[in-house]
Amino acid sequence: RAKQAGGNQVELAVGVEADLPGDVECVDRTVLQAVEHGELRLYYQPIVRISDRTVRSIEALVRWQHPTMGLLAPARFLPGAQRAGHLPALDRWVLRQACLDLARLDAVLGDRSPEWVNVNLSAPTLAGPFDEMVEEIMAETGLAPSRLRLELAEEADLQTLAAARPRLERLIAQGVWLTLDDMGAGSTNLRYLSTLAIHGIKIDRAFVSGMLHNPRDHAVVKLLTDLAHGLGMQVTGEGVESAAELTELARLGVVNAQGYHLAHPQPLAPLVEWLSVRRASRDHPVREPS
Ligand code: C2E
Ligand code: MG
Ligand code: MG
Ligand code: MG
Repeated sequence: RAKQAGGNQVELAVGVEADLPGDVECVDRTVLQAVEHGELRLYYQPIVRISDRTVRSIEALVRWQHPTMGLLAPARFLPGAQRAGHLPALDRWVLRQACLDLARLDAVLGDRSPEWVNVNLSAPTLAGPFDEMVEEIMAETGLAPSRLRLELAEEADLQTLAAARPRLERLIAQGVWLTLDDMGAGSTNLRYLSTLAIHGIKIDRAFVSGMLHNPRDHAVVKLLTDLAHGLGMQVTGEGVESAAELTELARLGVVNAQGYHLAHPQPLAPLVEWLSVRRASRDHPVREPS
């Protein structure tokens, strides 16, 4: 359901990328070739603390600047990359670039730089030696592991996550935070949630966008929030598109939020601008973004 809700979404904001239909897959080459040709791009979407609108983190979201097809959304090429077995290579590229970019933000923005960067790990990556990959990249880029938050794919099944557990715990011990992405969209095993030291969950956009008019979606948001807090986890609401949704999330106790209402995913350069301007207006009372 979540995938359907997201798949046909079109972004209308001026100057912002438009999401193309997710089910059109006609990319003529592989993601590995895209990496080789330097065609992958990272966009970053801020994750904001609702109470004071402080930027807590930024999530790295990959796009493909295809020479003839234009800027491709992940839904256009991730399924093909998965079938070809290329997701671990993609995730490695994204992680490395995200670490380099956060170091660049630190250099440009100083203490205005976000504390963390969130990076998505796909299920196939979680099935492999991803701990070694993370350690290698942290060592190479010099970024402290405590600046990294890994978003674990909801599609990762119980077996995969159970097998990944020692690797995840190794990373946790180094200060990496773990977040379960798209919570509620799939079949998250609650037993797993209660036994692994996951630091937070992200409530899937489908529930956030439904909660104001659908009491069932509202009940799920409330349940997931209470569950996470009961387990000592942080909660982020995904896909917030209106002030009303933001207010309702806050009322339910959700601390962090992400969504077009707060900020769209954007390339690094405009993000730097956005973060600078934001800081400059920080002394003013919290304004509703228009
Ligand atoms: P996700 O990790 O759950 O990322 C959130 C998605 O929701 C992003 O779509 C983001 O652009 C979109 N979004 C954020 N706020 C709003 C909103 O207010 N309204 C709507 N309608 N959408 C919003 P995107 O960038 O197209 O990515 C889709 C999915 O592709 C991601 O979902 C993630 O599962 C996957 N993905 C993206 N980048 C990567 C990556 O670097 N590695 C891996 N493994 N997966 C990635
Ligand atoms: Mg994510
Ligand atoms: Mg998500
Ligand atoms: Mg999602």
